[in-house]
Amino acid sequence: MKKIIEMPRSKFLRVMCKKCKHQQIVFDKPSTVVKCLNCGAILLKPTGGKGEIVDAKVIKELS
Ligand SMILES: [Zn+2]
Repeated sequence: MKKIIEMPRSKFLRVMCKKCKHQQIVFDKPSTVVKCLNCGAILLKPTGGKGEIVDAKVIKELS
């Protein structure tokens, strides 16, 4: 039987910037503000736990 290893603390999201449609991979629990690499818009901001999504749209969750 396979044992499933859960890693709830390390999840990545593919997000799209709402302002310029640029896509990038971000960590879902960032320790600092995550900015769009293309236009500088704030995509995620840290809240101490799960990041709060600001100017981004989650396209896909990556494991
Ligand atoms: Zn952008």
